[in-house]
Amino acid sequence: MNTTVSQLINPKILDLKAYHVPPAQGFIKLDAMENPYQWNNALQQQWLKVLERVAINRYPEPSATGIKKMLRQTMQIPDLADIILGNGSDELIQMLCLAISGKNHTLLSVEPSFVMYKMLATITGLNYVGIPLQANDFSLNLAQFLQAIEEHQPALIFLAYPNNPTGNAFQRSDIEEILKTSKGIVVIDEAYCAFAEDSFISDLPKYPNLLVMRTLSKVGLAGLRLGFLAGSADWLHEIEKTKLPYNINVLTQATVEFALQYYDVFLEQTARIKEERAKVFEMLSGFKNVKVYPSEANFILFRVENAISVFNALKDHKILIKNLHGSHPLLENCLRVTIGTPEENHAFLTALLEILK
Ligand SMILES: *Cc1c(COP(=O)(O)O)cnc(C)c1O
Repeated sequence: MNTTVSQLINPKILDLKAYHVPPAQGFIKLDAMENPYQWNNALQQQWLKVLERVAINRYPEPSATGIKKMLRQTMQIPDLADIILGNGSDELIQMLCLAISGKNHTLLSVEPSFVMYKMLATITGLNYVGIPLQANDFSLNLAQFLQAIEEHQPALIFLAYPNNPTGNAFQRSDIEEILKTSKGIVVIDEAYCAFAEDSFISDLPKYPNLLVMRTLSKVGLAGLRLGFLAGSADWLHEIEKTKLPYNINVLTQATVEFALQYYDVFLEQTARIKEERAKVFEMLSGFKNVKVYPSEANFILFRVENAISVFNALKDHKILIKNLHGSHPLLENCLRVTIGTPEENHAFLTALLEILK
């Protein structure tokens, strides 16, 4: 490396491995928790008419009030709660980190979980602590987590509910205990709520330190990049100051306003994905030498005898899933597959069965 580069760049950034997205062209893509379904032709045509009217020469409306109003209705956000929007929930995680940075505060989470918590904590100079989940079922180690709150007094806690990449939802009573114990912000990341049985959104008025984060990515709008954070105005007013002025572009604003009118289309698709999840779970459970973990999300975590060779063999079959081996000690020989269309799932299961023979 050029010495000026190594001298000037922050050492924490030099040590960081960039978030890697593998090329997927020509593959059955089951690696990134996308909804596999597109809109039907009639809906596409209507959407294009909406886009025709967008003033692309103008800056977007900075507060995006239209979307916020619709999100409130569609997502049953309590009236008392405020909302801020992010260019994907990744940007909201960054905003939260920036808002508490500069004072050597701690961000506390569990491991393995969503990698951006640690990555953005590192980038923004926070102290990061990750408490390991239980090895047998990836449940939360509540005693150890409460002890970590006591020890580190975290300004920010992230819990993905359900968790990625494990797929399970932690016990509600454990999360309530954490909400009561923590003085800092507790963000419940509900990226997968469309596939889960429970949510904390209606608990917002109960806990002043609770913020609920959601995204439209996993329900079928990953290309748009829209996430929101809901909670008390006291927190959100400060956090919003870290937002870049026009973070939600005009095409996203117009498309979200359109898409939320047809939210039942997404609900119907997520219902189909949940049915497929049950089928894939059952099939995988019948495979020899495969351990499958229950999921409340649109993906399934499973363990094989040699994850790297299975992952590569699937790639030879033009099927792309996620290899988690090497990413965390608890994920030894683990792979994660996103639930696709029935045809895609069938192709995956058939190839896997052949590979395992
Ligand atoms: C995918 C994911 C996100 C990021 O979603 P975007 O809105 O696409 O940035 C956040 N949290 C969890 C747990 C995720 O799995």
